[in-house]
Order: sequence, then C-alpha cells, then structure tokens
Amino acid sequence: MSITKNLTAAIMRAIRVTSFGGPEVLNLDTGTHIPTHGDNEVLIRVLAAGVNPVDTYIRAGNYGALPALPYTPGMDTAGIIEQIGQNVENFKIGDRVFTVRTLSGAYAEYTVANSLYVGHLGDKLSFDEGAGIGVPYFTAYRALVIRAKAKASETVLVHGASGAVGLASVQLAKSIGLKVIGTAGTPEGMKLVQDNGADFVFNHREDGYMNKITEVIPGGVDVILEMLSNVNLGKDLEIIKYQGRIIVIGCRGTVEINPRLTMKSECTITGMALMNAPEAEWREITSAVEAGITHGWLKPHIGLKYPIEEAAKAHDTVINNSGAMGKIILTL
Ligand code: NAP
Repeated sequence: MSITKNLTAAIMRAIRVTSFGGPEVLNLDTGTHIPTHGDNEVLIRVLAAGVNPVDTYIRAGNYGALPALPYTPGMDTAGIIEQIGQNVENFKIGDRVFTVRTLSGAYAEYTVANSLYVGHLGDKLSFDEGAGIGVPYFTAYRALVIRAKAKASETVLVHGASGAVGLASVQLAKSIGLKVIGTAGTPEGMKLVQDNGADFVFNHREDGYMNKITEVIPGGVDVILEMLSNVNLGKDLEIIKYQGRIIVIGCRGTVEINPRLTMKSECTITGMALMNAPEAEWREITSAVEAGITHGWLKPHIGLKYPIEEAAKAHDTVINNSGAMGKIILTL
C-alpha cells in the first residue's frame, strides 16, 4: 500500500512528443494523466525542470537508448513530494527534492521517479536552482571524482567551463582543493567561470590560448574534463601531465589525434556516460551533492527561464547555447 495524498485533479499539463524530430515536436498537452507510482517510487509536484543537451539528442532521435513514443522529455526537476511508495524510507510527503532521472518525464506538472534518483533539496536553494542540479552536478562528480580520481592539490583543466557541467565541475573541484583552469568562449562566460572560483580562465575561441595555459602551469595538468572532445582532444594530449587523466564528457563528432603523445605522458583517455553509473555510485553522488547543498559550495547558475509551453524555444536555445547564458530551465 502506498502513502497517498489526494490530488485535486487526475490530469496535468505536460510536454508530449509523438514523433522524433526538431523542437517543434515538443507540444503541450493539457490533458495528460498524472502518473502513478510504484513501491520504490515517489510522485513529485514539479516546480521547475532543467533542460540538458541530452534532452535535445533524444528528442531528435539521435541517442543510443530512445524512449517509446509518445513520451515526456527531461530528467532534472525540482519540486515537492506528493506521494511515496511503501518501500521508500528516506523521503516524506512535503519534502523539497530534486531529481536526476525520472520514469515519466520532467517537463510536466507531476513526475514519478525511483527514489534512487531523488535527492533532498533542503531550504538553501530555490526550486529554479534545484532544477539545475541533476545531470550537471552528477556528471561533474562522476567525471572528476569517480573516473579521474582527482585529488586535492592536483590541477584540473575544465575545457568548456562556462556551461552547466563546466560550472558544476569548477565548484566541485575548488571544494575539494584542486587548482582549476577553466575556459569559456566569451568575456561574459570567462567572468562567470572566474566568479565561480577558477584560478585561471582562458578563451577557447582565441588563437594560442593553449600556450597561455602552459605558461601558467608549465608542468602540464593532471586532469582534463573535456566538453568538446572532437575539437580539443588533440590539443589536450599536448598539455596533459605524466600519468594524467582526460575524461571525455562531451563530443559532437570525430577528431584526429597523435597517439604518440600518449606514450610520452602515459596518460589515460576515459569516456564517461552518467547513465552507466551503477546503483552504488548514484548513492555516493547523491550524498556528495546533498552535502554540497548543505555546506554551500553547490550553487547552480540559472540564466534563462521559459514557461513549460515554450519548451521548443528552450530546446532551440540549448542547441545554440553559449555557456555564459547559464542553465536553461522550464517553469511550471
Ligand atoms: P552547455 O551548458 O550547453 O555548455 C556547453 C559548453 O561547451 C560551454 O561551456 C561552451 O562554452 C563550451 N564550448 C563551446 N565551444 C567549446 C570549445 N571549442 N572548447 C571547449 N568548450 C567549448 O552544456 P552542458 O550541459 O554543460 O554539457 C556539456 C557537454 O557535455 C554537452 O556536449 C553534453 O551533451 C555533454 N554531457 C555529457 C554527459 C555524459 O554523461 N557524458 C552528461 C552531461 C552532459 P562557451 O559557450 O562559453 O563557448
């Protein structure tokens, strides 16, 4: 038996996608049924939903695992628990929460999520900020701590630091004592990266910026978190330190590299896909993220907000996004 609270209506507003395609396939349906939850799940009243690049790949049909049609997009939400399944012990009705994965979709007034993918939002962050936590911060943690095994006093280059994952990485890396170099493509983005704690910031659209990095870190960097590998992987190999770790987070095509450079540095190049995380890692990352909220180092930067009916506009913007715009969210 589940612990329930009566809902005033059985239907809700939600974005429904009936065929894969461009942003125009994101249509608001005002008569979608409120989803029901199972024993290990919670029903959340969504106040804000985060828009991630992966939502656009799935919507376009360009992703490994595609949902059955029709579906409601999105993974990241912030809201309030409305109902809980009988096996769920760590939440109660009325808790402020965020999600990093949902079963029924994030772009909706209500969502159902397995409690494994739900975290406590606490009262320090707004719901808008809460919608900026999920995929960006979980990705940053899994890349930097779990895959790269970064340690305090090491140096990390966040290659593409002005976006959602990049800023999360900068905040996380500073909180655990790394020296941080970040890159951005505009003066506004560079300022944002600096304001979020980076020790050095360079413009990845400027000729010779990699030389400037080696000027400030002559021995090379221990870890590189790479947001655009198809552009940067070859250059990364020139500045990675002996036994350094390059983590491929973002990639939008192919790239030519000189494998010989990996011999000199004995570096590793590691791919990372958040959705591959096993259950123990989801629990570990949730604890770290909740601690970040409580202790104050975790602060999503929300740049653009759209009402849910303008989800298509939000996807358009995310495709052409400059990180300096900050995280894009939908409000409900
Ligand atoms: P975002 O907010 O749109 O940020 C994109 C970032 O890429 C911005 O900082 C942008 O900087 C930067 N960029 C643009 N040109 C660049 C260049 N030449 N070199 C380095 N960086 C450059 O996206 P996000 O949510 O942070 O995600 C970043 C990437 O990671 C996306 O490709 C996304 O699909 C991927 N991702 C992967 C995983 C995973 O599990 N592997 C999880 C989440 C995200 P400017 O705009 O300032 O130029």
